[in-house]
Amino acid sequence: MQKYRKKHIDTFFIVSSAAPCAKLDECAILTMMDETSISLYLHIPFCRHRCSYCDFNTTTGLEALIPAYVEALCQEIKLVGRAAETRLPAPVHTIFFGGGTPSLLPPEAIAKILGAVRRSFAVLPGVEISLEANPGTVSFDGLQRLRAAGVNRLSFGMQSADPQELVFLERQHDIYDVLRAIEWSRKAGFTNLNLDLIFGLPDQSLERWQRTMEIACSLNPEHFSLYALTVEEGTPLFGWVQRGLTTAPDDDLAAEIYEWTSDFLERAGFEQYEISNWARENDDGELLVCRHNLQYWRSLPYLGFGAAAHGYADGMRTANVTGVGTYIERCMRAQTVEFPAGPALDSLTPLTSQTEMEEMMMVGLRLTREGVQAAGFLKRFGLSLQDAFPAQIHKLIFSGLLEWQGEQKTALRLTKRGRLLGNRVFREFVGGK
Ligand code: SF4
Repeated sequence: MQKYRKKHIDTFFIVSSAAPCAKLDECAILTMMDETSISLYLHIPFCRHRCSYCDFNTTTGLEALIPAYVEALCQEIKLVGRAAETRLPAPVHTIFFGGGTPSLLPPEAIAKILGAVRRSFAVLPGVEISLEANPGTVSFDGLQRLRAAGVNRLSFGMQSADPQELVFLERQHDIYDVLRAIEWSRKAGFTNLNLDLIFGLPDQSLERWQRTMEIACSLNPEHFSLYALTVEEGTPLFGWVQRGLTTAPDDDLAAEIYEWTSDFLERAGFEQYEISNWARENDDGELLVCRHNLQYWRSLPYLGFGAAAHGYADGMRTANVTGVGTYIERCMRAQTVEFPAGPALDSLTPLTSQTEMEEMMMVGLRLTREGVQAAGFLKRFGLSLQDAFPAQIHKLIFSGLLEWQGEQKTALRLTKRGRLLGNRVFREFVGGK
């Protein structure tokens, strides 16, 4: 999952506990550590079937290309790693296989890709290696082999526990697949599991969602990512809504569901740390946030590999070509690249300092507890938050949507009300308003 994928940025309201970050010192330490590390995103654009709501960059019916795609991915990693040698001394602290459906790849292919990463980049010993999985595509044996390959965090696209909702979403799994996948994962040694769920479906009642959440919580995952359903143009769902075959999601009900869920998860021992994300502590007292996604929300560098993957390094955004065939062909033909470009580069966009500051506000304010750190902002841009955005901050604080953390004003973050109007706040910081 990448920063600009819609399911991360379209949730327009936010509800969480307004309590100050109980782990602020730990947060600060983690920030310092992460500033000297990079993250790698590996896009696996294959799915067996396109879900009714999906507008992600993914393909169906091209699974025969998986072996060639894996070769191309390894080649891209090798070329970029070689080019990065002098430009990117930072070690890798997170690796994320996103999609699409990465669990369609054989575990040996994942091991091969991770081998290419380790040969091409310095990888920190405690690296977080996440893989998105469709519950209907895993086996106990496969999960054991994934764990042996080094994957240590799984993100399952559960979406709902309700059979009718899963059919509506055109998911290729049922609740029993989810139950089996979790049980097998635990037996295979995974101690860091995320469940993705979607709320705000047409005709969804609060009671029906509550049942889904109760079942999901009983599976005892370490992490939840919860997204409001959005109707994207070009999807089957969009066509159904246009033709009146189904209703559009009800925003008010979605808000009610969200508020209930926030309280429910807090009571269940989860801490909300981002608009759509909740984590709980493991037995060692470590809050199992998704370290990879934190890299995006903190506007720290990451490299994107694979068709349609995006990256951010050296003050530039990179975007790869989207076509799987073109991607493979470009990677296999290339001999050298110039960092941060890869062999399948489609666009390279230098960012101005103003754009970077705006983006930092837009994604940093998603961190409901941490917010945008004043010292980090000053260090990075040589400008205080107040000097960079005087009018916006004044207006949003006056409107009760933003607040400073503490008397020392160590961070700027959303108020509880601001969390409900997140997109309105983010828009204020974009485009030099
Ligand atoms: S599994 Fe995920 S990426 Fe694939 S079609 Fe469904 S929603 Fe899209």
